[in-house]
Order: sequence, then structure tokens, then C-alpha cells
Amino acid sequence: MQKAQKIENLLKKKFFISQSSNIYGGVAGFFDYGPLGCSLRNNIVNYWRSVFTNEPNIYEVDSSVILPEAVLKASGHVDKFCDTLIFDEVNGECFRADHYLRDKVDEETGERLDVMSLEEINETIAKFDVKSPSGNKLGNATHFNLMFKTFIGPKSQNLGYLRPETAQGQFLNYKKVYELNNEKFPFGTFSIGKVFRNEISPRGGLLRVREFEQAELEFFVHSDEKTHAKYDRVKDVELTLHFGSEVQETKRMRLCDAIDNNIIKNRCIGYFVGLTHNFLKAVGFVDFRFRQHKRDEMAHYACDCWDAEILTTYGYIECVGIADRSCYDLSMHSKCSGASLVAQKRLDRPRQEVKLEPMCDMKEWGKTFKDKLPLLLEKIKNLKVEENNLVKEMEFDGQMISLEYKRTEHTVHVEDFVPSVIEPSFGIGRIFYSLIEQVYWERKDDEQRHVLSLSPVVAPYQVGLTSLRIGDYKKQLNDIFEQLKLRNIRVFMNERNVSIGRRYASSDEIGVPYFITFDNESVRDEMVTIRERDSMDQVRVLTEKVVEVIDGLVRGSIDFDKINK
Ligand code: AMP
Repeated sequence: MQKAQKIENLLKKKFFISQSSNIYGGVAGFFDYGPLGCSLRNNIVNYWRSVFTNEPNIYEVDSSVILPEAVLKASGHVDKFCDTLIFDEVNGECFRADHYLRDKVDEETGERLDVMSLEEINETIAKFDVKSPSGNKLGNATHFNLMFKTFIGPKSQNLGYLRPETAQGQFLNYKKVYELNNEKFPFGTFSIGKVFRNEISPRGGLLRVREFEQAELEFFVHSDEKTHAKYDRVKDVELTLHFGSEVQETKRMRLCDAIDNNIIKNRCIGYFVGLTHNFLKAVGFVDFRFRQHKRDEMAHYACDCWDAEILTTYGYIECVGIADRSCYDLSMHSKCSGASLVAQKRLDRPRQEVKLEPMCDMKEWGKTFKDKLPLLLEKIKNLKVEENNLVKEMEFDGQMISLEYKRTEHTVHVEDFVPSVIEPSFGIGRIFYSLIEQVYWERKDDEQRHVLSLSPVVAPYQVGLTSLRIGDYKKQLNDIFEQLKLRNIRVFMNERNVSIGRRYASSDEIGVPYFITFDNESVRDEMVTIRERDSMDQVRVLTEKVVEVIDGLVRGSIDFDKINK
């Protein structure tokens, strides 16, 4: 059986996840999370919070899932958030063009599929004589918008969409948070929540779904100050980078070298690349890289973009997008809503500014133009006043008017600007699934014994607890259980009346790193056994010390190999 299939079976058997509306046949692209799945997902999210948001200038925002059309029109999603759709002209079966055509064309064409225009897709279909899986002709390519459309209230003209990203809700609230942060830069907002994309062909379990959770941070900076106060903490991180705006190459290098060589465009986006690297390592990923977007694949809002791609059986999959969104979104919302989303910056050195104002001869003009005067004043107000190109004469109501200007000089201490945004955007479902893939293995010579080597940081349970004979030593076990709980350690009591070997095997399958067993000896020597999942090694420790030892093990301050040495 293929690895991906085995993993899917395991996830379903242990109810990490299940296809939603399952008993009605299920719907592609939607999944429900069971108890273990919820726990693993929540642990990933909680760890993300601790790494990315534990700063005084990072604020949580929880905005609504349904957005009115105007918001997504301004952000560009209504017009541009599309995939290219092709379909079987006979039976109507639909396909996402770049995915369907990838293995039917040559390598060079394959690499460009996701940036091709509709015409180019049609030409490619013709050139390589591509047919549908049923051998039928493919219809002309069209754009398919990925947003789920809905009506707000009973009036059908009030269109809304389920949000395709949490970011827009954060942009709409940015000014309030700016004020909360005492109008100081930089600062960030973050949201964790469901987003919706009506994918043409969901696939790969949780990798391409229609409803998924995102954890997104929007870090607002002045465009001249794209750096981060904590950059030095990550600058020496060794990264695998796959980069180049046209032709791409892969190299291992330190983050600071990538910045110094202008591969990563600024220290702020670099900081988040470094932090993402540390996050992925701590969660338990071994094989991943950061891939730069090529010039022609960059999203409509981005000016530098890096994806953290994790190796899975489906190849390298984008699990995190880290984008420099510049000031695109805030400028668009400012323009389309009429709200001023500018911020102010105190200048390091005050600047002298010259102001030129047309002088209006109200007395004379009043006499000449009478009730047409307001019209003239409006025209003058709208004049473009440029030092080197002053309008000195203008025609109004058939007469020529001479204009003179008042010149004043004043000192400017602050300037208005629209902030830029650096955004790390995490798809939690993709991280969840790729993590399971990377930590899944089978015991040597026994395909039936699956192990998930989940790190204690995210494992649904950090420790299991049992006694050799089910039903014995209840009081002692309950005591240990309560003490572990008091320390916020995720513990479960295994009371399945099966052999101890099977109890261990089933806990390995759900990724429990340590297991405590109370046995007949324990009463006599006041010691219990701790078993380590991956090596299956066992050590005996004093019962009164076991909680402290487990605490040290799950927090990483005690090394299992060094216990008793
Ligand atoms: P994007 O806004 O397209 O850069 O997506 C941000 C993150 O959301 C990606 O890095 C993925 O982890 C995740 N993501 C995007 N589309 C999907 C999908 N259809 N299913 C699951 N996760 C997704």
C-alpha cells in the first residue's frame, strides 16, 4: 500500500479526521476533526501563538467570516482570485487546468502552466492534443473565482463572500489597533480562523480543501523601515533556499547571507522566514525549504514572497506563505472606502516646506461674476499648484483672470504614509497533514506497527499511564494522573484490557512520546517504568520523582538517555 494511503487510513481509524457529512456520502474538500485531530491542531496553533504573537506590540483581531462584496472588490479578490478551469465538453467534468495538464505537456511548458493566460492554455491543449480522461474534447478555458458567494439578508442584491483569507478583516481594523499601539510603528495584528476557497479539484487529504484554518500575522511597518528589532536572534539560522526571479536554484545559506546578497529583499521578511524555520523545526519537521516566488507568479498584492514548502509524498507543498504585501491592501481600502488609512510618522529631522496658495480677489470678482463666484472659487480650489508650473492666467465666463499666489514657509514635523505589510500566513491543515507524513514510520520488519514520532510540543498526549494488570493500583495511578494534569501535561490513562505490548503499540500509533507503567515491583521498590516511544527503551524511576521527570522530558530540559546516568 502507498504511504499516503496508509496515513489516510491511520488518521481515519484513530479519528484524527473524517470526511465531513460522511454518512451522506461526504463532500470533497471538507473534513471534520475528531478528538485527537482537534488536540494536534490546537497544539500546533497554541505553539504558533507562543512563537509569533508573544510580543507586546502584536494584537489579536477576530473579524467576521462573511464579508460584503465591496471589501473583496477593493482587495482584488472578486476580479483576480481565480484558477483556470477546463472541462470535458461531453460530460461536463471539470479540472483545474495547471494540475490537469502538468503531466501531459513537456517540462518547460509544465513550469509555466500556473501563470498562463486563457489563450495560452487553449493553445497548449491544442498543441499537445490533450483530451479529457474519457477521451473527449476539452472546452475553452475560463476563469473560475475561488470564493464562495452568498447573500446577506433577504435582498438578493446584497452580495457577500466567505472570506478567502483572514488578512482582509485585519486590514479593515488596522487603524484602531494603530491607535491602541499609541500610533507607533511597527506593530502587528493576527487572526486564527476558518477561511474558504472553492477549489476546483480538492485532493491530497487535508492539503487542498475548501475550508481550512489559517493563522495569519500582519506586521505593519513604514516602507523605509522594513526591519525587525529581533532580527539578530535569527540571522544565523541556516536555511535551504530555492530562489531566483526567473531561473531558480537551491542553496543552503545563512539568513544574514541571503539578506546581504539581496536574495531575501529585506530584514523584516527575513526575520519571519527565520522565525518560521525555527517554528517548523520545533514542531518536528525535518525536510522543508523556502521557495521564492518567481516574478510572474507573485500574487497581485505582493512584491517579495517566500513559501515554506514541506516535503510530502505529493512533493514539496506550500504550507506557509510569507509575503511583503507592500501598501497595496491599505491603499486600495483607503481609495475604495474613502476612509483615511494613512498613519503619521514623526520625522527625524523636521523639513521646511513651501506652501503656495492662489489669492482670490473677492471684492473685484464678486462685482464681476456675481452669483457665478462660488463656481469660480471651486475651480480655483481644484487647481494643481506646482511651484515650477503655476497657472498664472485662466479663462472663466468668457473673461481672462490673472492669478497671484501667497507663498508661506513652514516646518513639517510629521508626514503621512500608508504602511507596508509583511505577512506570514500559515495553513494549519497543511502543516498538520505534512507533519503526520514526516513523523510516520513503521517498526522494522512489521508493517502493521505504525509510529508517529510527534514531538511533545504538539502530540495530542504527551504521556500515557497504565498498570501492568488493568484494574490494579488505581489510587497510585490517579495520584500521578492528577499531578501531571496540574502541570498542564497532556496525559491519558490506558485502561484497555489487552497485553502491555498492544497498549504500547496503540499509543505509538497516536504519537504518545512517553509511557508510565505501574507494575507489581512498583509497590515493593516504589519505582515505575518510563518507556520512550521511538527507541522503546525503558528506565525505572522513583514513583515520587516520575512527575518531575516527565515534566522535564516533555519540556526538553531532561534527556531520556541521561536518566539514571
Ligand atoms: P495563500 O493565501 O494562498 O498564500 O495561502 C496561505 C496558506 O494557506 C498556504 O501556505 C497554505 O498553507 C494554505 N492553503 C492555501 N490554499 C489551501 C487549500 N486549498 N487547502 C488547504 N490549505 C490551503
